[in-house]
Amino acid sequence: MPKFKSKEIEVAVEAVRKGALLAFEMRRKMSISPLTKPDKSPVTPADFAVQALIARMLQKHFPDDPLVAEESAAYLRTEEGSETLNQVKKYVRKKIKGAVRKKILDWIDRGTAEPGSRFWTLDPIDGTKGFIRGDQYAVALALVENGEIKIGVLGCPLLKNAQAVDKKGPGSLVLAVKGKGTWVRPLAKKKDWKPLRVSSRTHPSEAILLRSIEENHVSGPHAEKLVKMLGITQPAIWMDSLAKYVVLASGAGDILCRIPTAPLPDGAEHIWDQAAGALAIEEAGGRITDMDGHPLDFSTGKKLARNRGIIATNGYLHEKVLDAIRQIRPADVKK
Ligand code: AMP
Ligand code: MG
Repeated sequence: MPKFKSKEIEVAVEAVRKGALLAFEMRRKMSISPLTKPDKSPVTPADFAVQALIARMLQKHFPDDPLVAEESAAYLRTEEGSETLNQVKKYVRKKIKGAVRKKILDWIDRGTAEPGSRFWTLDPIDGTKGFIRGDQYAVALALVENGEIKIGVLGCPLLKNAQAVDKKGPGSLVLAVKGKGTWVRPLAKKKDWKPLRVSSRTHPSEAILLRSIEENHVSGPHAEKLVKMLGITQPAIWMDSLAKYVVLASGAGDILCRIPTAPLPDGAEHIWDQAAGALAIEEAGGRITDMDGHPLDFSTGKKLARNRGIIATNGYLHEKVLDAIRQIRPADVKK
């Protein structure tokens, strides 16, 4: 159990707990009708509602800290978006009595800030496609100071003990603190923290690969080549979202790779998709770098503009995976 406290940790844990429980409730109670954003990715009323709730909490406790989050309220402010806004409002008002439209829109738009020397980064629902399908998703919040991730908190409503799929929910809450460790507790409780530790598997042939379900997010053919090169015999775990990072931190999976399908800068990852999960892996004893073995650089704006792809392992397997990646390095994705 974490034997230290800070206001930042307390607020971040409480914000993600509330946000993840709200996402879980909305997924159970609503018929999900996703909208399509200009980048063709889906968004649901739950993404907006969770961002509103967490942004409000951060505003209350840390009014000077910028929030860099995935969503904005631009669509909800249009005529066309009014029905979606009604749904968002209905659920936010259950949690925040008397919340009015303007406040909700402003809370969501707090998330459009640019990164500064100290900022929070939030993905209100990572893996929205999984969320819509009824599969895994994660609420992810991190505090970044001078390019270093200090705190990462993840809410995974359909993941029990940070490792097993449990669609009954309400799943796990994971906390990682720089230099201190990674823990999990049940999302439904406010106690019972247990430390998380990566696996100790050293032979690639025994390793379990964590893979994305969505085909266009990362390169499947390169992942297949990696399986062959490493002689992996275990079946992969196919899972949406940062839930994969949590499973790696818990030791139930060993290798995760995101080989981009597009060259940089388009192929670079967003910081809110990586920060909380990266710290959870590192503080559980694992390693996370880009495909070239470089550390992830969180000081380049909203995207990891200097990093190409993501490789995360239990640490023991890292160099072996990087060696294999060097050999199958995709010619179509150049710096
Ligand atoms: P996954 O981990 O592959 O299940 O997918 C979740 C992540 O993929 C989210 O963090 C998304 O932001 C990201 N994502 C969504 N669309 C794309 C895309 N076209 N290319 C790369 N990543 C994507
Ligand atoms: Mg995401």
